[in-house]
Amino acid sequence: MEEKQADIVLTGDRPTGPLHLGHYVGSLANRIQMQNVHRQFVMIADVQALTDNYENPQKVRDNVLQVALDYLAVGIDPKKTTIFIQSMIPEIAELTVFYLNLVTLARLQRNPTVKSEMQQKGLENRIPVGFLVYPVSQAADITIFRARYVPVGEDQLPMIEQTNEIVRSFNRIYGDVLREAEAIIPKIARLPGTDGSAKMSKTLGNTIYLGEEEDNLYKKVMSMYTDPNHIKVSDPGKVEGNPVFAYLDAFDQDLAQVARLKEQYSAGGLGDVALKKYLYEVLRAFLNPIREKRKMFAQDMHAVEQLVKEGTGEARAVAEKTMKEVRSAMCLDYFMK
Ligand code: ATP
Ligand code: MG
Repeated sequence: MEEKQADIVLTGDRPTGPLHLGHYVGSLANRIQMQNVHRQFVMIADVQALTDNYENPQKVRDNVLQVALDYLAVGIDPKKTTIFIQSMIPEIAELTVFYLNLVTLARLQRNPTVKSEMQQKGLENRIPVGFLVYPVSQAADITIFRARYVPVGEDQLPMIEQTNEIVRSFNRIYGDVLREAEAIIPKIARLPGTDGSAKMSKTLGNTIYLGEEEDNLYKKVMSMYTDPNHIKVSDPGKVEGNPVFAYLDAFDQDLAQVARLKEQYSAGGLGDVALKKYLYEVLRAFLNPIREKRKMFAQDMHAVEQLVKEGTGEARAVAEKTMKEVRSAMCLDYFMK
């Protein structure tokens, strides 16, 4: 691992399925940039995945290396970024327990992202405590690596807020050990789903995967939600809230062309089929090299596992060091002499 003096970056993904375009826009694109300037840790969050998948441990397990493959395919470079598995750093769980004292139940129940996820998953009346407290566990993820920056999608803002509240409480009570973190949110902070809902998400099943095969990509694009009132080609259509245009904004380099298409669509005279075929070509050009690289790395899964193993070892050493300081600040440094 190259030594870098610069600030530390921590972020991650739940291994609940392969990664999709939303992950790319929300976080992966920033990580690819940040690994060149910062010391970056990327976590495969299997513990967090279990909070709402505890009945499907095999699914979580199977997706760990799939997520690692996605990282490699988009250009997260294991020479620059430490990729690790959350559950293999038990210090994170330990720190979470200490943090739980610093957070009230009411505060957790107010978290807007957790609230809407509970609703989506139908968990309102039987919330696993582990799920409710996952923002506390995220605070442990971030602070144990002393991260300054956290590149994430907009849905993660409440988690960073919660993290910094915990940091302030901890430092006030036990001394100045932890540092506050800052979310790095991209210009397009939330990519909508193919069904037009506000967020592309594995849970909602409205995704386009980074490893999507061409024929599936075509089917998904051609059946995307658009403006339901845009019936005849000549009808004026809505650009606002139309995910086809959101994807063009995110992935088409030809800004002048996107501006022309928007104008034509709003005025009437641009049909959904023609528009979607154009988007398909844009996404095909973006995804083809990613899929090819993914297949190449997938030929040697042992090597993928090996680099995650090495990253996990490095990450654990950093976490252990922070925990020594935390334990000592909390008067838990037994048997040291
Ligand atoms: P799940 O449904 O299992 O929660 P997810 O699709 O929400 O899956 P996560 O693993 O929870 O994905 O999110 C990983 C990272 O990707 C987070 O930083 C999150 O903000 C970002 N992200 C996920 N979906 C989107 C999206 N549609 N737009 C922007 N960022 C996103
Ligand atoms: Mg999520």
